[in-house]
Amino acid sequence: MSEQQRTFVLKAPHNKMPTIRRALNSLSNENQVAITLEKDDFMEFTSASPAYAMFKIKILSPSSVLRERKNGMEMDIPDKIFEWIEDMLSCPNKNCITAQPKEPTTPKFRVVSISPPKIQCYYCGRYIDQSSLEAQLAK
Ligand SMILES: [Zn+2]
Repeated sequence: MSEQQRTFVLKAPHNKMPTIRRALNSLSNENQVAITLEKDDFMEFTSASPAYAMFKIKILSPSSVLRERKNGMEMDIPDKIFEWIEDMLSCPNKNCITAQPKEPTTPKFRVVSISPPKIQCYYCGRYIDQSSLEAQLAK
């Protein structure tokens, strides 16, 4: 493994921690994180490919403070982590082309904004509402 691990520190409300932990643990292999320290309202984790982890945290716990630790300093994470998200979410529109069983199309969403979350289906234009986002990301 030559990929470089990056270190993150997170302060979040303690009642959000179980959801965040579950969401991070359910990331796919290539987006995997390793939680190295967890207290009441504090977590430290490492990842070589942290974009999806950062996205999940920002959506599931908007009031949390997530920073990257680098050379002994803690740096803010930009609000917009990426513009497109190609898996991890599904479109709520039953008529969307991505929901057709005959010829399945990989869901693709535009991240219009993170806070408040505006995640728009590339194919049908439907936005995923907050509760659906949370339900999908907390899995
Ligand atoms: Zn759609």
